[in-house]
Amino acid sequence: MKILQTVIASFAMAATVFAGAAIAADKGTIGIAMPTKSSARWISDGNSMVEQFEAAGYKTDLQYAEDDIPNQLAQIENMITKGANVLVIAAIDGTTLSNVLENANAAGIKVIAYDRLIRDSGHVDYYATFDNFQVGVLQAEALVKGLKAKGDGPYNVELFGGSPDDNNAFFFYNGAMSVLQPMIDSGEVVIVSGQMGMDKVGTLRWDGAVAQARMDNLLSAFYTEKDVDGVLSPYDGLSIGILSSLKGVGYGSADKAMPIVTGQDAEVPSVKSILAGEQNSTVFKDTRELARVTVGMVDAVLGGGEPEINDTKTYDNGVKIIPSYLLKPVSVDKSNWEEILIGSGYYTKDQIQ
Ligand code: BGC
Repeated sequence: MKILQTVIASFAMAATVFAGAAIAADKGTIGIAMPTKSSARWISDGNSMVEQFEAAGYKTDLQYAEDDIPNQLAQIENMITKGANVLVIAAIDGTTLSNVLENANAAGIKVIAYDRLIRDSGHVDYYATFDNFQVGVLQAEALVKGLKAKGDGPYNVELFGGSPDDNNAFFFYNGAMSVLQPMIDSGEVVIVSGQMGMDKVGTLRWDGAVAQARMDNLLSAFYTEKDVDGVLSPYDGLSIGILSSLKGVGYGSADKAMPIVTGQDAEVPSVKSILAGEQNSTVFKDTRELARVTVGMVDAVLGGGEPEINDTKTYDNGVKIIPSYLLKPVSVDKSNWEEILIGSGYYTKDQIQ
């Protein structure tokens, strides 16, 4: 009898646990639209979100659009048709989603802009990102620190911007210029090409090959008689292209020092390049944290609550100010890579060395 009671009790318990799991697994489906797999950071973003959404009891529909706008629009339409409960979107071009988001709104689907602001639409509910202006500040501060360590100025510098269809690119550039402009005004930093402003220095689709070609042109047009001391690069994928161009004309050798080249995302090739003494620095943005913030937003939105927000004034998307949560970016160079990137468990040591 006792045994029977125990058996019945454990069946009841198992049934409760099972029912609990069934309820947890039925919280709905989250459509996750990511821009491209060509950069490792978006792969980490996607993986972290799938892992964390599933652990929280959601199903996920993760799609990458390989930087093709119509492809991303079709993927989002498909998520709407299949009945996603929330859309989490890192836009390729932040201005192209107005129509598709009309449809999302008509279907009662909430929208979270992920990392990149979605512009020109009233149907964006929240924005999860990093302090993008601060990213630019950190890049310029690392550049200046590297330049000063080389010796006294004036320093010959060239500027690169991100993709002009990505709102973040302007924040990075403006953040960097908040540090560099006073030095340009005082003559301590000289932009030898004179090319300044996002319309001149932007790099469509964050394409490393485009940055490499522009650096080749800058070097042959402006640096046959003098050396370039520093290059502001807003993203590791561009930095690697810029560094190849520089190496191509002999920088990084015994008699021609490598200029200070910045970056962003702490991608493995760039961390390796930093350790090899080529790229100077990068900016680490922990994509696991961004996923955590996003899952929290979705939980609140679907549970009828208010997500945690820490910025309600910075991100005007042209229609309204999107309530945002901004995470802190961290500057990484040779002196702290191990503590920040390995210590946090973001990479293992053998991925880097
Ligand atoms: C992201 C950066 C990334 C860039 C290129 C930006 O929107 O914020 O982290 O380097 O896109 O993918």
